[in-house]
Amino acid sequence: MKRPWVAIQRNPTSGTGKRAGLLLEFIRELKRHDITPRMFANRQKMQARLDDSSAREHLICVVAAGGDGTVGDVINRYPGLPIAVLPLGTENLLAKYLKIQPSGKQVADLIVSGSQRKLDVGQLNGRSFTLMASCGFDANVVHLTHTNRRGHIRKWHYIPPIWNSILKYEHPPLRIFVDDEPQPRVARLLMAVNLPAYAMGIPFAPQATGNDGRLDLCLFEQGSTFQMMKYLGHVIAGRHQTLPDVTCLRASRVRIEADVAVPWQMDGDPAGFTPVDLRVLSAAVEVFAPQPTNK
Ligand SMILES: [Mg+2]
Repeated sequence: MKRPWVAIQRNPTSGTGKRAGLLLEFIRELKRHDITPRMFANRQKMQARLDDSSAREHLICVVAAGGDGTVGDVINRYPGLPIAVLPLGTENLLAKYLKIQPSGKQVADLIVSGSQRKLDVGQLNGRSFTLMASCGFDANVVHLTHTNRRGHIRKWHYIPPIWNSILKYEHPPLRIFVDDEPQPRVARLLMAVNLPAYAMGIPFAPQATGNDGRLDLCLFEQGSTFQMMKYLGHVIAGRHQTLPDVTCLRASRVRIEADVAVPWQMDGDPAGFTPVDLRVLSAAVEVFAPQPTNK
């Protein structure tokens, strides 16, 4: 195969309704520019094709056609390959952050023009995430939601797990070893932000950037439902970083331990339990995206 091509990883649920229209528009635009689109709903088939080095020769990028979950899957399976995102999921926080529109034409144009951005990638026990990871109350909600639910998760599916966590989550303390600090810091909730995009636009670390080789950490020290609600109010108001029991700092290596298994989430999906090692891979992923406008 001599023509340039792209491998499209399609989320199986993205083939219906308006999403199918976006996908068709994307494919039509690529073909118009003599780029061959190859679509894979089957992950193994795509893996087999990309394991073939001669097929990779003319590959421009892997396209994650889906939401943040599809992006996470693609960056974990194809480290080092450039990616494009066609936002077709229920949560498209990375695409929103990068100002990638749900438009087949815009995404095809980005690929044709070669407009790329390099971004840091966070790693949690060796698995990659683009946006953020957290440990404690909100990760417990994510775990319960995924345990109780098969298939598509909608926003309202989080409500019973939030209520359950309010009643039952015990907020165990976390010991957080930051870079080379000899003593751990202690907190009940930890946010580790690579890119400042969180569900419902909640601004945990609005100053975080994806090109400084570090994660922005927020450590919330007190643990109770009342405290969590209070913290959330302060976070939404943008003043949590001034609270005496909240510490925000930057780090490139973090180890988190606890006496019990405390749940983690990354980019909105369950990501196991403590102990956890966090790292950052500097400029580890190239994404087709509009260039950032200077503020
Ligand atoms: Mg950073």
